[in-house]
Parts: sequence; structure tokens; C-alpha cells
Amino acid sequence: MKKYSIKKVEKNLNIGLATLAVIMFCIDSAVFGSFINKTVKAEEVDADTLKSIEYSINYDINEVVIRLNNALDKNEYLTYDEKDLIRSNLWVFIDNKDYMDLNYIEKTLLTIKIKYNKKIKYKDKVITKAEYSDKRNEIIFYNSSNLYDVDYSIFTHELFHSMQKKKDFDKNMYLIETVNTIFNEEYAFGKDDNVYCKYYYFTKMLMEIIGEEPFRRYQCYASIDFITSELSNIYGTEDDARLLLELLDKYQELYVKTINGNERAVSKALKLKEEIINRIGLYYEAKYGFSMENDLIMLYYYDKNEFYKKLNSRFSNNKDGIILYEYNDIDYFHGSDSHTLIINERGPINLKKIYIGKTEIKEKEETINDYEIIYQIDESNRYLNNVMSLKKH
Ligand SMILES: [Zn+2]
Repeated sequence: MKKYSIKKVEKNLNIGLATLAVIMFCIDSAVFGSFINKTVKAEEVDADTLKSIEYSINYDINEVVIRLNNALDKNEYLTYDEKDLIRSNLWVFIDNKDYMDLNYIEKTLLTIKIKYNKKIKYKDKVITKAEYSDKRNEIIFYNSSNLYDVDYSIFTHELFHSMQKKKDFDKNMYLIETVNTIFNEEYAFGKDDNVYCKYYYFTKMLMEIIGEEPFRRYQCYASIDFITSELSNIYGTEDDARLLLELLDKYQELYVKTINGNERAVSKALKLKEEIINRIGLYYEAKYGFSMENDLIMLYYYDKNEFYKKLNSRFSNNKDGIILYEYNDIDYFHGSDSHTLIINERGPINLKKIYIGKTEIKEKEETINDYEIIYQIDESNRYLNNVMSLKKH
């Protein structure tokens, strides 16, 4: 059985510096300055049960469009340009109308404020570029004096925080941030280049197990009950599921310390990662009946080295020199419906000198490429060994 589809092979490709820099960035974030789009702690919404959410599912789409636009029009705090930029993203809210509380979003758009602060905000040497406070319903952009100083992906990141009606806001920063980051990447059509991208794969692994819908609900109403109830339906108790989410929060806290070069934090983070992977593995096995080591998509998320090894063991390419990989992740919230991971392998490339500065890598020598292979990994070929015969989907 052919395991992978090879779409095209081209000779003598040229890869520019930008591509290389992107790949290096993905592999070793610690070399580079990173930042956090941080949210400010909010008050608990007490006695607010899931059942009481007034979802917009019953609203006619035209009514939703009109109500959100009207709310934005009547907002007294925003400039014309700020409103314009939010308006160009209203379709994202509308696209999720069945999951959000229309009254809440309407009120949010009516009163949302944007502030600019020229200072560079550091916390433990990590730069915070922007924050959204749901208490004040206010976005603050740092190191900027007006809208034109703000990166678009940061703008939409903070805007999409405002659609997260809060419940467990204080406790689950990992989910709040990673779900929002994945959402923003897919809807705003760009890489949300923040620190959360470095470890949001745990969330993607969970989406492979319980599907994306609970996470879409979470994006619109941040209660972990959506996630813990799904997980505990598969394996263990709700407490087990809550513990997993707590470990993810701990991982996020630790990761920031690893950026600062704290060696103890690095080894602690590695250990914690292992524990998280093991716990996620229990849910995976309970659901699918085999280990997630046999699933190329899961491997891609939690062990890239092993993933590439297994990918390459299927082909005997000329491997003299460095092999370059680019990838298009699976879209969960918006984009492709095909649930396909696309890996683009090119090589070999010759690099003679790489200068690593404080914030950038400069590659001085020419790159030489002999081949390019595009792997499309989906339901038909993601499972390794003979697991396909164990369980048929
Ligand atoms: Zn954020």
C-alpha cells in the first residue's frame, strides 16, 4: 500500500532567505525575542451556567449582521479607522454566531475601547505587545501611539479575545490563549507569531481527539466544562481532565522562563511535556484503540524528529546536506475542510555560514536544492504499521 502521495518533484529550486529564517524560527524560538499577547485577569462570572447562555443559534443571519454593525456604529470610544478595522472582521463573529451569545457580543462592540501606550512593556524580559481586559472591555497596544503602529495579527488577536465571554478566565490561560491564537491564525489568514504558537500543538492534539467543536464553543464562551466533559466521556473523570488543563497552564508558565534561558525551567518543561503527552495519549488510546505513536499527525504535533524520521524512512532521498521542511497545518476553525497536513520537503541545501545575532539569523552562502516533495497526510495515510487493519474508520 502506498503510504504517502507525492505530488510533485521539481529540480533546482531556489529558496530565499526569508523561507529559511521562518523555518529556523519555528525550530528554535529561544534564540529570538518573543512576546506574549497577554490578557488581564477578569472577575468571575458567578452562577453563570452553560445552560443559561443565550446562543445566537436562533437568530437570522441578517439580524446578527445588523445588530453587530449598529452596536459598532454607536460605539462612542473608537475612531473611524478603528471601527473600520473591526468592521472588516465582523464576518468572523458572524461566522460563529451559533456559538456566541449575541447580547454579550453586541454589548462588547458597543463599549469596546482601544488605547495606545508608547512604553515597551517587559515582564521577565518578555515583551507584552498588547492586552485585552474584559473587565474594562479595553485593548491596550504597547510600544505604539496609534493604530498604524500595530501589527494586524496582534490587532485581530486582541479583538478575538473580546468575543471570549468569560467563565473560568483566571484559571485557564493556556486554553484562553492557544485556542484564540489558533482561531486568529486561521481566520485572519496569517501567522499569529506569538509565544503561544510554540506550544499550541497540545490543543491541536486534543482537537484530534474530541474534535474542534468544543474548542469553538470555548472560543465564544470560555468555560472548560466544554472540554472536560468531552474528555471524561472518553476516559477517566472530569477531575482527571481538569488536572490535564492545569498541567497545560503550568507548562505555559514554565515556557516563558525557558525563553529567558533558565536551565532548570528547560528541564522541568521537558519533563512536564512528557507527562502531558502521556496523559493525552491515554485519551487517544481510549478513543482509537491504538497508540498515538502510530499516527503521523499526532507525531507531527508532539515529536517532530520522530515524525520526520518516520516520514523519511518511506523514501530514500539524497540526504547530503540539510533538508528543509515547510508545512501547512490542518485548519480546524476556518479554512480547509480537508483535514490535511501538508509537508513540503526540499533539499539538500548547503549552508556554509550562519550568523546568529541577538535577534536574527543571517545566511551568507547560496542554497542549492535538487528536489521538492509534497506530502499530503490525511485520514488515508496518517496511520503507521498495521493499525489500519485494527481499526477502520
Ligand atoms: Zn492573547
